[in-house]
Amino acid sequence: QPGLHVAATPIGNLGDITKRVIDALAQADRILCEDTRITGKLLNVLGIPKRPLLPYHEHNAAEVRPQILSELASGAAIVLVSDAGTPLISDPGYRIVREARDAGHKVYALPGPSALTAALSIAGAPTDRFTFLGFPPKGPGQIRSFFEELSGRPETLVLYESGPRLAATLAALAETLGPRTVAVARELTKLHEEIAEGDAAELAAQYEKAAPKGEIVLIIHPASAAEGPDLDETLRRLLKTESVRE
Ligand code: SAM
Repeated sequence: QPGLHVAATPIGNLGDITKRVIDALAQADRILCEDTRITGKLLNVLGIPKRPLLPYHEHNAAEVRPQILSELASGAAIVLVSDAGTPLISDPGYRIVREARDAGHKVYALPGPSALTAALSIAGAPTDRFTFLGFPPKGPGQIRSFFEELSGRPETLVLYESGPRLAATLAALAETLGPRTVAVARELTKLHEEIAEGDAAELAAQYEKAAPKGEIVLIIHPASAAEGPDLDETLRRLLKTESVRE
């Protein structure tokens, strides 16, 4: 199908690839990817014969966008993937999607894995409202002002972070936002998947001694009772209102 197909790929477990993504990759006139070796390997393990791969990352994006747009204009089916997970979620793709839409091309979502939604779905933090913050800044001063700007926010906060920086991030978080329950979701869908939950300052001290390995999503519970709305209670209230109206 002509257009730009934005396709999610597994974040660690090949079994999470969807049938739509396999079909789109197999039929693609071109596949835009971050690292041709990683996507080449994915095609290989899926048994998909070679397709034309084109690297699309922050260093060459501006350069290759005109070529991609002209291929879309001539009716090509182009699939955009990232190394893992959903493109555009802390990954390249925003500008090509924007420009494809501006040019009137079809842009299709082929949804699937994302570390963001995988972590949120199992952390047990309120999810009625949350804010995704991507990767936090690196400098000690910057990370403190980053968290200071977030103080008073009532919703769950979600960050991507690396193992070596996790302790410093948790310490800065505890210093600026006060005591907080956090969940460290690590290596989701992989062999050593785990969730460590606890007080931010305590986990900071623990990770200071030994940085966790692998890929990490940090989920910060809201400051107060860490409770979302009670849906049963909301429903009861609504029903009551209805019966009063009758
Ligand atoms: N677009 C991707 C997605 O939708 O999941 C995220 C890309 S971002 C560059 C990579 C970061 O996602 C990692 O540094 C880590 O914070 C998180 N991540 C990716 N895979 C993960 C996994 N299996 N378990 C935990 N976190 C993961």
